[in-house]
Amino acid sequence: VRAASEPFVEECDVIVLGTGAAGLTAAISAHEHGAEVAVFEKSDQLGGTSAWSGGMLWIPDNPHMRAAGIPDSTAEALEYLDSLSLGMIDGELARVLIETGPEMVSFLEERTPVQFRLVPRFPDYHPEHPGGKPGGGRSLECPLYPFDELGEWASRVTVGTQLTGRLSMSETPLGRGAPDGVPRAELERRAVRDERGAGLALVGRLLRACLDRGIEPRTSMRATELVVVDGAVRGVRFDATEGAVGARGGVVLATGGFEWDDALVRSFVRGPLTHPVSVPTNTGDGLRMAMRVGVALGNMREAWWLPVVDIADRAGQPMRWQVNGERARPHSIMVNRQGRRFVNEAANYNALGAAFHEIDVTTFEYANLPCWIVVDEQFVRKFGFVGYRGEGAPPSWLTRAESIEALSEQLGIPPRALRDTVERFSAMATDGADVDFGRGRSAHDTWWGDPALTGRIDATLGPVDTAPFYAIEVHPGALGTKGGPRTDVNGQVLDVDGVPLPGLYAAGNVMASVMGMTYGGAGGTLAPAMVFGYLGGRHAARAAARVVMAT
Ligand SMILES: Cc1cc2nc3c(=O)[nH]c(=O)nc-3n(C[C@H](O)[C@H](O)[C@H](O)COP(=O)(O)OP(=O)(O)OC[C@H]3O[C@@H](n4cnc5c(N)ncnc54)[C@H](O)[C@@H]3O)c2cc1C
Repeated sequence: VRAASEPFVEECDVIVLGTGAAGLTAAISAHEHGAEVAVFEKSDQLGGTSAWSGGMLWIPDNPHMRAAGIPDSTAEALEYLDSLSLGMIDGELARVLIETGPEMVSFLEERTPVQFRLVPRFPDYHPEHPGGKPGGGRSLECPLYPFDELGEWASRVTVGTQLTGRLSMSETPLGRGAPDGVPRAELERRAVRDERGAGLALVGRLLRACLDRGIEPRTSMRATELVVVDGAVRGVRFDATEGAVGARGGVVLATGGFEWDDALVRSFVRGPLTHPVSVPTNTGDGLRMAMRVGVALGNMREAWWLPVVDIADRAGQPMRWQVNGERARPHSIMVNRQGRRFVNEAANYNALGAAFHEIDVTTFEYANLPCWIVVDEQFVRKFGFVGYRGEGAPPSWLTRAESIEALSEQLGIPPRALRDTVERFSAMATDGADVDFGRGRSAHDTWWGDPALTGRIDATLGPVDTAPFYAIEVHPGALGTKGGPRTDVNGQVLDVDGVPLPGLYAAGNVMASVMGMTYGGAGGTLAPAMVFGYLGGRHAARAAARVVMAT
């Protein structure tokens, strides 16, 4: 931390670091509240993990629910989060999140090209908890966005590998799109104006809103240090340039999590996180910058957990795949090295983190790592396993065997144990009740299961009894970490004594998440990211106005 003894090379009202949904929303909000804004991005591409995402936002009591007549309230949403809190959720921040969500949606819809609609019927992730919504309504998405609206900026938005296409989430099997998918003619029509869905639609719209305000994000600008003047954060240094850039109102950290920094992960996170799926530039720069100026940290143990498998893309390049629908569909189980099931496989991906981190106190090993997903021929024929439908040789990343015993030997699992597990599960599946782990009791499980059987137990339970059998190791991954600087209700970062540190804000995965260890529903990470971006941008703009008036 250096005081600015030399003048800033450039000055504005509000600096935003990072161009994911948190950063872009903060920039728009600051500008709408009167600030001159500068946005900097470490990568040579824009949009962060937000652009790779499904682009869904979990906003209880949102305006689109109200229009559709779906009842909800702040009290219900708070009761729901409280039921999942385990003492980790700050009630005041949760209230602000829930109360501000609908306001943020209306603000963006009224003032920018960012528009939302319901992802119909998508249930919350723990819908049977008090205040939960088994029939959905809280998850929103943006309609497709024509990228030709972005001109030369279109090619500067990062494109992920898992969700790259021209589909909205509500058109995918998970979002309950038409069983035959989107017709080819419609996809060809979408190609004309480069219409894109999911996270690309969200980021494309947010970026357009920035460009409309004259805010042109600067790429390949890695922020490295905050400049503190008289106890307030007043600027930023970058590794690519000499001299610091000043901000009269403040700096919004929106630099994502620290999941790609092994040392930080090992220091803080509660258990193995070997497979992040976010943009690799999320290496905890914002966390380090904040630690250097003496902030309070919170929620450091947690990440948005995710089971991940290593596969290869069509070109044979290694690729990580979020193994979600596969776990929930019938004819599949997950087993540990003892050959035993250890979890409701269809539970939401974030909750599975707890099962990955369980320790066997006798052997002092992670009880459920390594683990595998095992499916049978029925599964592969019905659903395909990441595109493989049982025709020809399986891909190199997928183990196949003619019997459960042969599969166990290839995996190094006791054959008898795996056979017993498979037989027990198959009998329970045939009876329609997983008495061991309760798979299928929740509306969540059957939603993520076979789309053709939603709401029925056989959407998720089906015997694993038809050779050949297939398996792949499942790794403890994450969408991103969710610990970092603690903030107040304005998104202002707190110092180690819990007092707001003038001039510093945080939003998104860089900040101590309001959600504690939970994931409320589809959109549970982007919603708080954008709400706290909105709040922080607004507060920083007002702070800048006060500085200008005082000088
Ligand atoms: C396939 C997939 C699907 C998902 N679907 C959903 C979904 O539907 N709903 C949901 O809520 N969540 C979803 N997620 C998770 C969600 O994408 C992330 O939690 C969210 O995007 C985080 O937003 P952010 O703005 O905090 O970070 P990011 O979007 O990752 O942006 C951070 C940016 O900061 C930049 N940066 C880092 N360090 C610096 C520095 N020193 N200086 C300047 N810039 C820096 C990074 O390069 C990056 O561009 C999904 C994730 C994936 C991978």
